[in-house]
Amino acid sequence: MTSAFKHVFHPVQTSLILFLVLLGSTLCSCRSVPVTGRSQFLLTTESYENSLGAESYEEYKAEYPVSTNAEYNAALERCGNAIKAIANEVGDASDFEWEFTVLDSEIQNAFCLPGGKVAVYSGIMDGMDNEAELAFVVGHEIGHAIARHGGERMSRSILQSLGAVLVEAVFENETINAIYGTTTELGVMLPYSRSNESEADMIGLILMARAGYDPSASYTFWRRFTNNAEGSSKLESILSTHPCDSDRIKAMEDNEPMAREEYNNAKIKYGFGKKFTHKK
Ligand SMILES: [Zn+2]
Repeated sequence: MTSAFKHVFHPVQTSLILFLVLLGSTLCSCRSVPVTGRSQFLLTTESYENSLGAESYEEYKAEYPVSTNAEYNAALERCGNAIKAIANEVGDASDFEWEFTVLDSEIQNAFCLPGGKVAVYSGIMDGMDNEAELAFVVGHEIGHAIARHGGERMSRSILQSLGAVLVEAVFENETINAIYGTTTELGVMLPYSRSNESEADMIGLILMARAGYDPSASYTFWRRFTNNAEGSSKLESILSTHPCDSDRIKAMEDNEPMAREEYNNAKIKYGFGKKFTHKK
C-alpha cells in the first residue's frame, strides 16, 4: 500500500468529495433499458450522443463508398424498415433519424451509431446466407443503440475523469493518477463488454422475431462465423468489436423458443427472407 492511502482527509478535501458526489447525482439520469429492463446510469444526454453519432456516420460515409450491390441494398432497406418499426415501438427511439447504408468494403462488420445511423459493410454480407441473418446483425447493432451502450461507455469515461480530478486533488500522487486512464472516444471500433453483447443479442433477437424473421438465423450466422474465424484475418474486425464465444451462441439457442413465440405473433412473416446469390 502506498503512503497516499494512509492520508487523513482534510475538511477541504472532504468538501471536495461531497461536491463531486453531489455533482454526479445531479447530472446523472437513471433509465431502464428497453426489452431487458436493466437499470442504467447515464451522465450523457441522448441528444448529445445522437449528434456525435450523426457526425461520426458522415465520416464513415466519406471514408467508404456506398455499395452499388442491388441485392444487398434492397435486403438492408427491407429488413431495416421492418426492424426500425419494432425498435420505435419497444425502444426509446423517437428522436432517432434512421439511416441504413451498405458500405463497400471487405471489412466484416456492422454498426448502429447513437441516433439510428446503421452501416453494414458488404464484406460481412458476403458471408451471410440470407436476409434473416442480416436482420439479426442489424437487430443486434440497433440493440446496442437503443440500450445506449455508447452513452454508458462515455459516462464511464466521465466518471473516470472525475475520479482522476478527485485523486489529484486529494492525494497529489502521480503514481495513483497514472492508474486513471481516460477515454472520451465514442468509437465504434472499441470492443463492447460481454454484458453489452448479451444484452444486444437479446434485444436483436426480439427485434428480428417481431419484425417477422426466423429467429434461428441468429445462431446459424454466429456459428458459421466463429467456426470460420480461425485463421481468417477478415473476421477479426467483427470479433474484435463484438466478442463471441460458445456461451454467447448457446444463449441465443436457449432464447430461441421465447423469440419464436414473438415470431409466431408477427403480423408479417419474411421467414428467412431472400437467399443471397452474392452476385456483384
Ligand atoms: Zn455487439
